[in-house]
Amino acid sequence: MKIPLLDLKAQYAAIRGDIEAAMREVVESQVFINGPQVGALETAVAAYCGVPHAVGVSSGTDALLVSMMATGIGPGDEVITSPYTFFATAGSIARLGARPVFVDIDPVTFNLRSDRVADAVTPRTRAIVPVHLFGQLADMGPILDVAARKNLVVIEDACQAIGAEHAGRRAGAIGDYGCFSFFPSKNLGGFGDGGMVTARDPSKAERVRLLRTHGMHPKYVHRLVGGNFRLDTLQAAVLLVKMRYLDRWTEARRRNAARYDELFEESGLVARGLVRTPRAVTERHVFNQYVIRCERRDPLVEHLRASGIGCEIYYPIPLHLQECFRDLGYAPGDFPEAERAAHETLALPVYPELSEDQARAVVTAISNYYETT
Ligand SMILES: *Cc1c(COP(=O)(O)O)cnc(C)c1O
Repeated sequence: MKIPLLDLKAQYAAIRGDIEAAMREVVESQVFINGPQVGALETAVAAYCGVPHAVGVSSGTDALLVSMMATGIGPGDEVITSPYTFFATAGSIARLGARPVFVDIDPVTFNLRSDRVADAVTPRTRAIVPVHLFGQLADMGPILDVAARKNLVVIEDACQAIGAEHAGRRAGAIGDYGCFSFFPSKNLGGFGDGGMVTARDPSKAERVRLLRTHGMHPKYVHRLVGGNFRLDTLQAAVLLVKMRYLDRWTEARRRNAARYDELFEESGLVARGLVRTPRAVTERHVFNQYVIRCERRDPLVEHLRASGIGCEIYYPIPLHLQECFRDLGYAPGDFPEAERAAHETLALPVYPELSEDQARAVVTAISNYYETT
């Protein structure tokens, strides 16, 4: 049985008619830039997240970049974030000439250790960028407290966490800005790149909106130096259709995760300490990824791939050890939990259409590996 890490064709097959109609409408209108679908998607995402404002942008990376630009982050500033995330989180900080300051992760959630954030604040700190990794909210309470005390901006990297919720609040509605990605592998994925910035404060949203089109308002009057960070109308049209299914897909991901938990428990792999399943400590983990920790991970990956089972390592090298950040002066051992995670974690297929038989086959293949080695 071949099981991909993600099966976008299965999802598309279920909604093909609606998607084709929505795309055709845009093509017939020939309004490819700032068409009405962009505003409609902004309204829909804002409502979904429970936040008053949302601004469509060109990618999750650009959502982070433009939020930081709106905050005025630049050379000499420090921004606190996680060393265990996709590169874009820290890359956006560095692109603005600011310094990423890493804080180690919590070994249970893989998110920033909120109790260590205060120690990393200096007079140069401008912002904190917590990441809701794999679809689970970071521990936002203590982060918001530090930010309020030290007058820092909080930018949520919610790229993997649309719809994640805890204590009545959703990803993107907790900090000053929320950054979302519609990269095809995210829970709400477009037909290419796309993203969204959410904000509670209207003036912050307005600043992002201005920066999205070269700081221009009205036409040919430039109040800020921005860029072209627009979301295509075609992407918005596709995403508007997909939004109708997002809760169903999220529930299916959560069901698949619960099923894996049971199957791993039954397999004896957990009791023998060979596999540790992920833990949801917040109310609604949306499982963009189902990530286990496992013994002898790298040969296990080879075994799974040889068996036709898709899997991926998120992430094999923590950001403080990346070549491009050598100048920051970090060394191996600085963030032991991020480094341990980079050695032990493995993401398994958890996409909504994954069947019970497929989940069973994944766990059986992992069991077989440990039986035969
Ligand atoms: C996907 C992702 C991004 C970047 O999003 P793009 O749309 O690919 O630019 C940033 N941060 C995290 C945590 C992500 O998972």
